[in-house]
Amino acid sequence: MAVQQFEEAADRLNLSEDMREILRKPKRELTVNFPVRLDDGRIKTFTGYRVQHNVNRGPAKGGIRYSPDVTLDEVKALAMWMTWKCAVVGIPYGGAKGGVICDPKAMSPGELERLTRRYATEISIIIGPHSDIPAPDVNTNPQIMAWIMDTYSMHEGFSIPAVVTGKPLSIGGSEGRNDATAMGVLFVTRQAARRIGMPLRGARVSIQGFGNAGSIAARLFHQEGCKIVAVSDTRGGIYNEAGLDPAAVLRHKQERGSVVGFPAAQQISPQEVLEVPCDILIPAATEGVITEANAGRIQARIIAEAANGPTTPQADKILGRKGVIVIPDILANAGGVTVSYFEWVQDLQSFFWGVEEITQKLELIMNRAFAAVVEKAEQYHCDLRLAANMLAISRVAEATQIRGIYP
Ligand code: NAD
Repeated sequence: MAVQQFEEAADRLNLSEDMREILRKPKRELTVNFPVRLDDGRIKTFTGYRVQHNVNRGPAKGGIRYSPDVTLDEVKALAMWMTWKCAVVGIPYGGAKGGVICDPKAMSPGELERLTRRYATEISIIIGPHSDIPAPDVNTNPQIMAWIMDTYSMHEGFSIPAVVTGKPLSIGGSEGRNDATAMGVLFVTRQAARRIGMPLRGARVSIQGFGNAGSIAARLFHQEGCKIVAVSDTRGGIYNEAGLDPAAVLRHKQERGSVVGFPAAQQISPQEVLEVPCDILIPAATEGVITEANAGRIQARIIAEAANGPTTPQADKILGRKGVIVIPDILANAGGVTVSYFEWVQDLQSFFWGVEEITQKLELIMNRAFAAVVEKAEQYHCDLRLAANMLAISRVAEATQIRGIYP
């Protein structure tokens, strides 16, 4: 999907074959196999990856995910998307991604800490505050970032908070980082809704995934006056056309481990959450969920991609024909990396900003990026995904061209 989207944008930009040759492939792919002692005394070898796609606009930046489904191909695609994401919002980073094949839900906190510290040590040959700065992604969190920061700092002999972002506040994290991805989704959705004359107050919102991005999006869209009609997680979904209370759903999930079983709601399957009657659909779970098999049944007018890669290129075509506005992942969920960038800047200068300043700066960047993408889309008569990719790829290509080919 990532390469197909790249080629399509490159065609429209008339990008030279030489430039495509450079941008198509990641710069570095590191695979590490490392032993971790389990609680029962046994040793298990885990496999992890760190991929840097392009660093011509600045240090590499991208999250780390822990999942049994992690593959090198997935990490490569996510790293490429990070390059475009940083370029589309105009922050001075290249793209990276990392992952470890593991099932964190089946591991104890001690096992998770040992796995994290050993993985951090293995990839420390390529990460660093000036070279590659990891962040949380699926199944990783501020605690895991704290262990990575501590491990890296132990090796250097002094604290280096700028080596990762998404850290707890007490060790150099940023105000606003937790809400940043969902807040960015809200800012661009507001712009998109304004363009089609759809008031957010009273708009029906359905959200797939109720983790960091999804649960916070539910809270923020609810505060904005939207009606959250459906949410889901891996175990299933819940629907109530009169609207759900996101705070109560979150409490239920914290107590029971899932949104499933929430009272005063109809139980639906994880797939159905994409197809319920709604105005705004927020996929906030995982990639490849909107496909040619279900795109025709989607009823939303706006899809804001909080997750990375939720829509396949075939589904994009179907949604385009139906007139659905898809705010592409590299734009819609760029609020997370933007506040990560703020965190890194604050760490490097050891001077911290308040949450108002962060929210204001984030809104400015998201609105500016949205306007730039819309302008590209109008200029080339194309959808927002192609426009965002073209904008991003042209910025990375320009940096690559100006720097020249070494030696
Ligand atoms: P998370 O682990 O906190 O939450 C993921 C949620 O999705 C969980 O509720 C899980 O149960 C659910 N889920 C997973 N697979 C599902 C499926 N097949 N059907 C229904 N629900 C499913 O992860 P997150 O940080 O919220 O990330 C979610 C997505 O957003 C990912 O694609 C991630 O790359 C993207 N993203 C996150 C951030 C961020 O700051 N957290 C930033 C940019 C992009």
